[in-house]
Amino acid sequence: MSSVFTQIINGKLPADIVHEDDQCIVIKDIHPQAPVHLLVIPRKPLLSLAEADDSDAALLGHLMLVARRVANDAGIGHGFRLIANNGAAAGQTVDHLHFHILGGRRYGEANL
Ligand code: 5GP
Repeated sequence: MSSVFTQIINGKLPADIVHEDDQCIVIKDIHPQAPVHLLVIPRKPLLSLAEADDSDAALLGHLMLVARRVANDAGIGHGFRLIANNGAAAGQTVDHLHFHILGGRRYGEANL
């Protein structure tokens, strides 16, 4: 069974796509936890960061640079969070690697 993100990548499910290239897509989260809440998703269906290895180094670097670019384009380049939940114990609900970009609100240590 392919993940909901693979279904979005394959055009089987709709999504608000803000960026796409040959290695990844960026979509708006369906249940935003901040004024700006984007998901950076590799086309490669890695289950989580824990599944990545040295052969994924260039892909992971690309995802970071795309995150930087879309955060800038969304007007939150001055301050945003980049989060990957790894495993159910950390709150991961979709088994397809993704990085959350969260911004447009004030964060502090109290609301980790
Ligand atoms: P996780 O909890 O795995 O770190 O994050 C999964 C995220 O994917 C959640 O923030 C959830 O709202 C989002 N999400 C789940 N299903 C969909 C969907 O079909 N479309 C979009 N745009 N986001 C989704």
